[in-house]
Amino acid sequence: MRHDIVIIGGGIIGSSIAYHLANAGAGDVAVIERDPTYEIAATPRGSGGIRQLFSLPENVAMTRHGLPFYECFDEIMAVDGESPAISFRRQGYLFVSDGGDAATMEANFRNQETLGVAAELLDGPALERLFPSIRADDVDIAVYSPNDAWIDAYAALQGFRRKARSLGVTYLQDEVATAEITDGKVGAILCASGERIEADLFVLATGAWSGEVGHLFGVDLPVEPMSRESYFFRCEAELEPLPFIKSETDLAFRPEGAGYTGGVPDWSVPAGWNWELDPNRFEEVVWPALAHRVPAMETLRMERGWRGHYARNSLDKSAIIGRWEGEPANLFIATGFSGHGIMHAPATGLAMAELILGGRFETMDLARFGTGRILRREPYAEMGIV
Ligand SMILES: Cc1cc2nc3c(=O)[nH]c(=O)nc-3n(C[C@H](O)[C@H](O)[C@H](O)COP(=O)(O)OP(=O)(O)OC[C@H]3O[C@@H](n4cnc5c(N)ncnc54)[C@H](O)[C@@H]3O)c2cc1C
Repeated sequence: MRHDIVIIGGGIIGSSIAYHLANAGAGDVAVIERDPTYEIAATPRGSGGIRQLFSLPENVAMTRHGLPFYECFDEIMAVDGESPAISFRRQGYLFVSDGGDAATMEANFRNQETLGVAAELLDGPALERLFPSIRADDVDIAVYSPNDAWIDAYAALQGFRRKARSLGVTYLQDEVATAEITDGKVGAILCASGERIEADLFVLATGAWSGEVGHLFGVDLPVEPMSRESYFFRCEAELEPLPFIKSETDLAFRPEGAGYTGGVPDWSVPAGWNWELDPNRFEEVVWPALAHRVPAMETLRMERGWRGHYARNSLDKSAIIGRWEGEPANLFIATGFSGHGIMHAPATGLAMAELILGGRFETMDLARFGTGRILRREPYAEMGIV
């Protein structure tokens, strides 16, 4: 079998790249995805948040591309008059400095202002006035970004996939098992089914599996799975509409339907796959953190929990986007998105399509997220809450 471009991994990143390539008139594009139900992929397990509150200009620019894209997503991705429904909800993000690093949050806020982000810097009393259910007596500052949003990420993935297929992209259900590399280039990949697929170029977009899959190409990517617990819970009291709240002390949650979704990630967990829910973590860590920040959450009911895995770039926790600058020379990489791959999927798809088809980034310059820094071991890291 032969295609012009083969994308390995059909999550939201691979599917956005496929859509953008097809939309730009690329030739014959195929996506190899081993599990079309995406049962353990990161995309359906993510929180779907879209925020501009970053320190790196590339991250801000990628979100500022993604926000209007997702706002119009249902229209852009319509196929035969049928639209996906990604439930785009513009209810804002709130960063809370309660861990002693207000100076960094304020410096990031000033930088965000210069990059055009319409955020507000709040002290404790101003925060309590805006969101009366939030306890702010131990908050140094907060940054509120009212134009930020969240979406249903699984619906977005399905939207990209369906639209890409309607534009001629082939999705193959298979697992890439090995690669044939000759004269510094990938000639073909071999799949678990025995299928051999040739292409001019290959794109690696396998999320938290990218470290393992990179090795099939002789490429050493510092990407490892980092397991995170999430929960859905209901609060008895009716609260004002809250934004997506993230604190320096790692509490992260947002409204979801008639309840809330979120948790307190444990950044100290060693890299690796872990699907086991800790039976005590919600009671001992998450609930107290929620009840501290929102006293009305003293009374709540946790209904379910689940785990998902970040694709964590151990060099600098930033995304890796670009052509592999070593060998094989016809391999492109889009991975290492930690907790940002949903919000940055539209920008990544567009940027990769520009790079693959035109040889350079046009809309956003993402060169500093390129693979050269990985080869040189030069970190390019976010300063704010990751
Ligand atoms: C708890 C949690 C909360 C998050 N919250 C947010 C958030 O609020 N906002 C945000 O933007 N992001 C968030 N994220 C991050 C986001 O979910 C990911 O960055 C994003 O989904 C990554 O997409 P992906 O396509 O790279 O990976 P995935 O969705 O994991 O897709 C990778 C695909 O590759 C396939 N694959 C792997 N190996 C092979 C192979 N050898 N052959 C064929 N196919 C293969 C897999 O089957 C999988 O479907 C969160 C993540 C988690 C875990």
